[in-house]
Amino acid sequence: MLKEVFRTCREKLQNGGIENSDYEAQCIVEAVTGLGRAALIAHGDTPVTDVQKRQIISITEKRLTRYPLQYLLGKWSFMGFPLFVGEGVLIPRDDTEVCTGLCLDYLKGKSGAKAVDLCSGSGAIAIALEKLGNADVTAIELSGEAFDFLKKNIDLNGSKVKAVKGDVLLCHGEFPGNSLDLIVSNPPYIKKDDLRTLQKEVQFEPEMALDGGESGFDFYEAMIRDWSGKLKPGGAFVFELGENQADYVAGLMKQNGFEEIRTAPDFGGCERAIIGIYK
Ligand code: GLN
Repeated sequence: MLKEVFRTCREKLQNGGIENSDYEAQCIVEAVTGLGRAALIAHGDTPVTDVQKRQIISITEKRLTRYPLQYLLGKWSFMGFPLFVGEGVLIPRDDTEVCTGLCLDYLKGKSGAKAVDLCSGSGAIAIALEKLGNADVTAIELSGEAFDFLKKNIDLNGSKVKAVKGDVLLCHGEFPGNSLDLIVSNPPYIKKDDLRTLQKEVQFEPEMALDGGESGFDFYEAMIRDWSGKLKPGGAFVFELGENQADYVAGLMKQNGFEEIRTAPDFGGCERAIIGIYK
């Protein structure tokens, strides 16, 4: 029955050193049976088929190899929006709410603002801005695999985000200057040499979404250089930041015509996002 298979799953995860074993076991059981936490508590004696049991065990065993839970579930939510995820696309993180929050603050009272999300991946930021900020959003993504997820996620959410497959380092020429209210990006920002030191789960995620070059700043430098002029005066550039990147990126923004630069911390107290207004 449900309760038993849940306990087996939780125990395997716990013994395998998975931190949130209770929560993850609930997610896995729900993904297979469709029965969530409430059913587990109130109807723990619900029968589970052998096929379901085998599926739950096989997913659990794959998780023990540190394969990301989100890829196993195939879906994950960001700010309440469901998103398809899987190999080839970066998993949306709670930290990215900080950068999205700065954008939403800026978009308040500006319905129909023209926004571009560079390196959009799953489309998490783009969809949240279109839905919660009433913005007219274009999402740009280069990876074919990630682009497929982006399109599926736009459909899944009935979103009006426009998906463009392109390289943000090259396609800026196609956007007229002085035309955008907001540019946002959660670019790859991990230093090349640090990629191998990331937790095992992250090693399953696309390197292309993580690798920020030797310094970690490659994308900030290129985006600020090539995209700032696409903003209208008074437009905003918002970035997610890696650890200890705030000062350098703030400096770059200041040198390139931005004012009112401010950062915002994540739950761990790290400056996780930055906004600047283009003058
Ligand atoms: N937040 C991701 C991590 O630390 C990195 C995402 C990125 O490079 N934009 O694993």
